[in-house]
Amino acid sequence: MLMGAGLFGEDQRRKHTGYCIDCKEVLELYMLDLKKGRRVLQCTQCGLYHFYKKDLFGKWKLIKAAKIPDLWR
Ligand SMILES: [Zn+2]
Repeated sequence: MLMGAGLFGEDQRRKHTGYCIDCKEVLELYMLDLKKGRRVLQCTQCGLYHFYKKDLFGKWKLIKAAKIPDLWR
């Protein structure tokens, strides 16, 4: 676990990566669209894509998970 990373705020995105709902492995950023408040994270282990949307409070909320990366295109 690299908890200290991002202390200086140079990479805000990394602080918000989560864990796979399937295999509990860490997720890495696959796609980020700040204009639409959307992002997609991919599991580093099983490759499952996790679709997040920003809620009213500016927090990322998991909408769904799928094996395909382009549900929002
Ligand atoms: Zn996984």
